[in-house]
Amino acid sequence: MTARILDGKALAASLRAALKATADGLAQRGLQPGLAAVLVGDDAASQVYVRNKIRACDETGVRSELHRFAADAPERAVLERIASLNADPKVHGILVQLPLPKQVNSERALAAVAAQKDVDGFGAENLGALLAGRPGFVPCTPAGVMRLLEHAGVPLAGRHAVIVGRSTIVGKPMALLLLQKDATVTICHSKTARLADLTRQADILVAAAGRPRMIGAQMVKPGACVIDVGINRLADGTLAGDVDFSPVRDIAGWITPVPGGVGPMTVAMLIENTVRAAAKSVAARA
Ligand code: NDP
Repeated sequence: MTARILDGKALAASLRAALKATADGLAQRGLQPGLAAVLVGDDAASQVYVRNKIRACDETGVRSELHRFAADAPERAVLERIASLNADPKVHGILVQLPLPKQVNSERALAAVAAQKDVDGFGAENLGALLAGRPGFVPCTPAGVMRLLEHAGVPLAGRHAVIVGRSTIVGKPMALLLLQKDATVTICHSKTARLADLTRQADILVAAAGRPRMIGAQMVKPGACVIDVGINRLADGTLAGDVDFSPVRDIAGWITPVPGGVGPMTVAMLIENTVRAAAKSVAARA
């Protein structure tokens, strides 16, 4: 069997086209959606991610602004800027690019973003809403994975989903979203014993560990849907996912490539959340 490719690049492009129509409609009513990105320091990967997000804003009619701070910027300066963005009616979404340098506490910075502008969905209010099954902003990477699964018609109810990784921004919200769709979910992490025994049981396998090519073909059940969230920069400068793509493609039923799978969907979900935040702000004013 050769797996069907879940083409995140193509799906994200069609989502962006639809979002542009919505954003243009809002702009005609005097409310162009606006996203503010806060970038502290000069981490190379973070700069690339922020650049991609700003480019996606440009393509979708979303106004963007970049708030850059030096690597040694004090936490107070970052928190004050977030407070002023919270109060700015032209800004509907705020993203704080992670990781932050150590003098800026990530939890405090994320908590400082107003819940109605927390388009990354990392604040306690939106994460709590996800846990409780209430509407809110869902973290963009797992939200993008769900869209890919839905678009491809991958069956979820009653299936066993195994997630490798338990971070607050990927693994845990991914588990909650799959649970909402009636999958039976197992979450694995670095202390999990006999990892391969678990991954081999997965109908849906989500790799989000940040370990290049750690999921080999011997860890995958034939016909499974394999979602590769990992983005790892190798010593030679190339990118690799957490899945050993070529051999796994030969036995899986569906697979996401890296790049071109989950990454573009993450960015599309950020734009979608920003457009939604702008639309909600109109509703709140009406
Ligand atoms: P974190 O480092 O926060 O979390 C990694 C998780 O993987 C942890 O729970 C860790 O376990 C677990 N883990 C690490 N090594 C192993 C192992 N050998 N076996 C089992 N579990 C392991 O990473 P993130 O969740 O932020 O990101 C994960 C990956 O996804 C990274 O490559 C990142 O670059 C990528 N990413 C991609 C995005 C996209 O848009 N495609 C967006 C966000 C992230 P423990 O908790 O025990 O330490």
